[in-house]
Amino acid sequence: MVAGRSRRAFLGSAGAAAFASFLPGQSLAAEPSKGAGRQRGRALQPFGFVIHGGAGTIERSRMTPEREKAYRDKLSEALLAGFGVLNRGGGCLDAIVASITLMEDSPLFNAGKGAVFTSAGTNELDSSIMDGRTLKAGAAAGLKRVKNPILLARLVMEQSPHVMMTGEGAETFGAQKGVEMVDPRYFHTDERWQQLQRIKEAEKNPPSKKSRLEREAPPFNEHKFGTVGAVCLDRAGNLGAGTSTGGMTNKRFGRVGDSPIIGAGTYADNETCAVSCTGDGEYFIRSAVAHDISARMGYGGKSLEQAAAAALEKVGRIGGTGGLIAIDRRGNFAMPFNTSGMYRGWIGADGRPHVLIYKE
Ligand code: ASP
Repeated sequence: MVAGRSRRAFLGSAGAAAFASFLPGQSLAAEPSKGAGRQRGRALQPFGFVIHGGAGTIERSRMTPEREKAYRDKLSEALLAGFGVLNRGGGCLDAIVASITLMEDSPLFNAGKGAVFTSAGTNELDSSIMDGRTLKAGAAAGLKRVKNPILLARLVMEQSPHVMMTGEGAETFGAQKGVEMVDPRYFHTDERWQQLQRIKEAEKNPPSKKSRLEREAPPFNEHKFGTVGAVCLDRAGNLGAGTSTGGMTNKRFGRVGDSPIIGAGTYADNETCAVSCTGDGEYFIRSAVAHDISARMGYGGKSLEQAAAAALEKVGRIGGTGGLIAIDRRGNFAMPFNTSGMYRGWIGADGRPHVLIYKE
């Protein structure tokens, strides 16, 4: 079952400035926030920004109020960072980078500072970004020293002739371009380290021999938390998407997931939509999920909601779990997931951040 209904947003029926409430059936008419640059008698260009902070077994019963608040606060902050850029008339790529770097700097998410550990006890980070206007894209994989991998993905896109760079080569390029490098120990957090120890211990008694209930409980579900992503529609009508992750706990060193793969974890095309995925990367790669959604819309005439749901159903059919966020050029957005929760949120021209965690 796919949770997380899509919501129509960001644009009133006659193209007027909008975005107030996303509850289905409610009016979309709204006053833009102060400083939104509204001119009398003219409609604001609509804009919208949607983020995720990973999908997985995220249940109320296992969450302390303090921890839940920390996630809600950080997600709101990340939404407001994107909003700040868009509200000033900035473009999607700047908004995505502003928002994702904030989440990368937080230990709460499996990206940047809070990256999970590989089976070898190292941290290897992946990222990607795509511009829906030009179809330019940049990605970096297997990073061990780059503080903010999303910045490097953008540099690959904008300052190299390539789309994807990996490992040492990517880091050398980043260093030449002035990207901040850190000692690999920067990525050590006790929580992630303990997750690795628990999963290694549990591996001695492999999950295949356990009941489904046990397989879906900690520590086996703990690798599915915290990748971050953002999708955006800016005032100029352009779409963009970005994703950043530490991958999956206990991954073999050298393993690369869907997050830095253009068309799998990230995709943006002004003609259709912008998408960022999170979940079992291998399954998202095999289904080319992000591009699949764009193709279902472009070739199949499906709505964003239908295309996103169908693409995620396909992931589920082959055994994958996770979720995604997607937005189209009209400001419709979808946030489906087939796990118990997904950290997620959206913000539009009224500047009010909305954050959800569970199936709600
Ligand atoms: N998709 C990421 C990966 O496979 C992990 C995640 O989103 O949780 O690397």
